Amino acid sequence: MPLSKPPLAEKLTRRIPASQRPDLAGVLIPEADLQRRIALMGRAIARDYAGKDVLVVSLLSGTVLFLADLLRRLPFPLRVDFLGVSSYGLGTESGNLVFNKELKLDVCGAHVLVVDDILDTGKTLRAVTEKISALKPASIRTCVLLDKKDRRVGSFEADYVGFRIPNLFVVGYGLDFAERYRNLPFVGVLKPEVYAPKPAPKPGPASARKSAA
Ligand code: 5GP
Ligand code: MG
Repeated sequence: MPLSKPPLAEKLTRRIPASQRPDLAGVLIPEADLQRRIALMGRAIARDYAGKDVLVVSLLSGTVLFLADLLRRLPFPLRVDFLGVSSYGLGTESGNLVFNKELKLDVCGAHVLVVDDILDTGKTLRAVTEKISALKPASIRTCVLLDKKDRRVGSFEADYVGFRIPNLFVVGYGLDFAERYRNLPFVGVLKPEVYAPKPAPKPGPASARKSAA
């Protein structure tokens, strides 16, 4: 008798490490797909920047795994610097931007490639590219692993995009929720109850009766 195929939901769950299963709804981009796509992005960037003075500016901290894998795919001399930018908002919504680590290296005259984890409303990369442009680089381009195009406020496009994804809150491969999940080797989707816990039920007539008893 032929074995029946497991339903999709079950297949997704099976790829999640057991220790993370209570929090994750599924894997959106598996590790092998990330690596294949990053190799292609590296090739495109290497082609475009051959022979140039390249300065990669990485936005902390969500790019940590993506940057490490992307840099290994760029086979030419370059410099790397880090810019700290946080968005203070409620839950999974972005809020006010705060720069909490400035660049160390001289940007003037360099071909700057800004690397970020995910392009959402576009607010972060718009602010970052304006800030760097004021330092007179020879050129400035942007590279993101993920792009949630439907969420954009105003027009902003990245020059290099790994994956277009739907409007879901994702974690893993550097991306966090409340500073957790960055170490997952894949991009996953959190169960909504993790970031939007259900309010405790108000005592109804039944419990009121019980406590009155
Ligand atoms: P934007 O300024 O484009 O709205 O947001 C960009 C920043 O918001 C990203 O660099 C990232 O830190 C955060 N962000 C946006 N969407 C997600 C998401 O789905 N998951 C996580 N972990 N962070 C996100
Ligand atoms: Mg970020």
